Formats: sequence, C-alpha cells, structure tokens
Amino acid sequence: MTDPKPSTKWWKTEGVLGQVFQTQESLKVAIRAIVNPAPLNTPLPNDQAAFLMDVLKHHHDWAGKRGAGVSHIEVRMNPGTFGSTRGLWLSRVDGSEIDISWVVPLKPGGRSSPKENVCAAARREIMDQVLDVRKKQEGGVCCICGHDLVGSTHVDHAPPVTFDVMLTDFLRTRNLDWSDVEVQDMGVYAVFKDRKLADDWQLTHSLVADLRLIHKHENLSIGARG
Ligand SMILES: [Zn+2]
Repeated sequence: MTDPKPSTKWWKTEGVLGQVFQTQESLKVAIRAIVNPAPLNTPLPNDQAAFLMDVLKHHHDWAGKRGAGVSHIEVRMNPGTFGSTRGLWLSRVDGSEIDISWVVPLKPGGRSSPKENVCAAARREIMDQVLDVRKKQEGGVCCICGHDLVGSTHVDHAPPVTFDVMLTDFLRTRNLDWSDVEVQDMGVYAVFKDRKLADDWQLTHSLVADLRLIHKHENLSIGARG
C-alpha cells in the first residue's frame, strides 16, 4: 500500500508531546482512552487537555478553532443522524466555545476529503427520513435475522442501492464532482449550501431509498455504512 503523503504521519515522527505512536490506530486508542470515560460537560484535567491540544493543532482550521485561545476542553454529547456521539468542545478565553473533531487532525492535511464532507452533509439532509423509518419499524422484527429489534439498531439502505451508490449516482447524473458540492458548516453538523440541490437530493432519496431497520452488528458485517 502506498501513502501519497507519508509526511502527514506526524504521530510517527513528532508524536504527541514527544510520545511517538507507530500506528494511527494506536494513537486513536490513546485518544479514546481519554474521551470515552471522561465525565461530560466537565473540563478535562490539564495533562489530558495538553495531550489533546497537541493532537488538535494538526486540524487544518486550528487557527479558527482556537480563536482567541483555549481555556479548557470538555467532552459533550453531540446529536447525530444515527445517535449521539461523544465530541470535544473548546472553551475559549473570551468565553466563546466551539466543537472540534479529533478525527479530522488525523486525516491527510488535517482535513476531511471532499467526498467525506459531502457524504456527511448528504446524510444529514436525509435525517428526517431515517428517523421516520426508525420510528415506524421500531419494536418490529429484523428482516435479516428475523429476531425482535431490541438493543442497538441501525437504519440501513438495503443493497444493492446503498447510500454510497445512491449519492454517487445522484451527483453523476447532475454532472457534479465531490468537490463541486459546497457544504455549509452548521456547527456540529453540515448541510448542502445549495438548498435546491438539497431538496432535489431529499426527494430523490425518498423515492429511491429502500430503508430498513436492522441490528447494528448486521450493518457492520455488511461492510460500508448503509
Ligand atoms: Zn437482525
């Protein structure tokens, strides 16, 4: 496997506060060990905050995120399309605050790819449809294994028309490349900037998507997020 930007593996060269990580995964493990058990809405201890700051400085928009300067970092629950997730929030010395992803600094150039950004926004645009299916099918029976839908469940796009296939096709038929779609940052989520395109996508998705509620582990076993 070739890496087009080997120099971006800063965790291996400069490390975090001098601690070198041989793989990106080993750094992720170290970050999760801070984020997952952290009490919510509470400033992280100085040593943990310092560690995370040394990671977050590789975020492509670190200057914008840091703003006037960071006074402390907190873990909060961020609402998402598929449930809430733990996210980092920076509190600044001027009293303002902003969310920041610790995943983004680990990506090449400290930024998400155009495709990742468009996919995330496209998922957000169809969130109501996903929630609707969840509400209607909850308490029913899983169409994959036949057992009751209890525990962790996931709204899945039934193959062959997976989310990826549908979105790729939607853009291709409109002669749009990933980098042609402008994404509007709304804080903890993003949407399409072009609201006509958003309406078009929502309508297309509602007509084409075959959504089903399944057990979460079955989605993971299929591979890509449905
Ligand atoms: Zn099942």
